[in-house]
Amino acid sequence: MNGAALLTDNLEKVHAMPNGQRAHTCDVLVIGSGAGGLSTAIVAKKGGLDVLVIEKEEFFGGTTAFSGGVLWIPGNPHAREAGIVDTREAAVTYLRNETGNYFSEKAIDAFLDEGPRMLEYFERETEAKFVLSGYPDYHPDVAGGAAIGRSVTAAPFDARQLGIEIRRLRPPLSTITFIGMMFNSSNEDLKHFFRVTRSLKSAVYVAQRLVSHFKDLVLYRRGVQITSGNALAARLAKPPSISKFHF
Ligand SMILES: Cc1cc2nc3c(=O)[nH]c(=O)nc-3n(C[C@H](O)[C@H](O)[C@H](O)COP(=O)(O)OP(=O)(O)OC[C@H]3O[C@@H](n4cnc5c(N)ncnc54)[C@H](O)[C@@H]3O)c2cc1C
Repeated sequence: MNGAALLTDNLEKVHAMPNGQRAHTCDVLVIGSGAGGLSTAIVAKKGGLDVLVIEKEEFFGGTTAFSGGVLWIPGNPHAREAGIVDTREAAVTYLRNETGNYFSEKAIDAFLDEGPRMLEYFERETEAKFVLSGYPDYHPDVAGGAAIGRSVTAAPFDARQLGIEIRRLRPPLSTITFIGMMFNSSNEDLKHFFRVTRSLKSAVYVAQRLVSHFKDLVLYRRGVQITSGNALAARLAKPPSISKFHF
């Protein structure tokens, strides 16, 4: 296998082949290590199946690792905990408007039933954790639209928790980083960077953040305090969800 391969089960299932290559046996072969592949692998593994995730690239995480990591889930538990008032009826109205002729009551019922359950499942069973994003719906002013509460994003993550496999995590897009540093829009980062020339407290915060980041660049050749889709991919891949990496 030339690219990165994530093995979610034990290596005893790897067999040497007469031609010198290795053969793997598994119940479920997942092709691709983005959020789709990794979440499929996790659910299958928790269902008792032997799962192998293969990835053609040098890095795991796919487009997911580049993404905003935002999930649009009306009725999600984080909005409820934050006391944000929303109703299923409003979400259905919004989706009816947005989907037009493609509106399918059955599909939307399934989405609204299973979306929050899916989120609860991953937060309970894996390292995937989410926070409210603060984003509005794309069209918050149309009937049923919401200004806040339906989007969650992956909680920030310290990629060092991946151990040696930090080197296999696809780096974020350079266009959304500052010298490789990912900003956490839900905490102090942006606020302090914007105020750096106007507040001593912010100047100190930024200086500490930069020193820490440069140290990470030297030690790990990448930023380790990650957010968004990069955090989502890393969280899904963190053991024990993915028990072993094999390359
Ligand atoms: C900049 C950006 C921001 C985005 N922000 C958001 C957002 O906030 N919210 C949202 O919902 N969506 C967002 N998206 C879209 C979202 O990222 C994708 O829809 C999602 O990541 C797709 O996940 P996936 O698992 O299907 O595919 P991917 O994450 O792309 O994973 C597919 C993997 O399969 C591998 N692969 C492909 N073919 C093979 C093969 N033959 N053998 C082995 N491996 C293979 C690929 O290398 C890749 O690693 C964004 C996209 C971009 C580009």
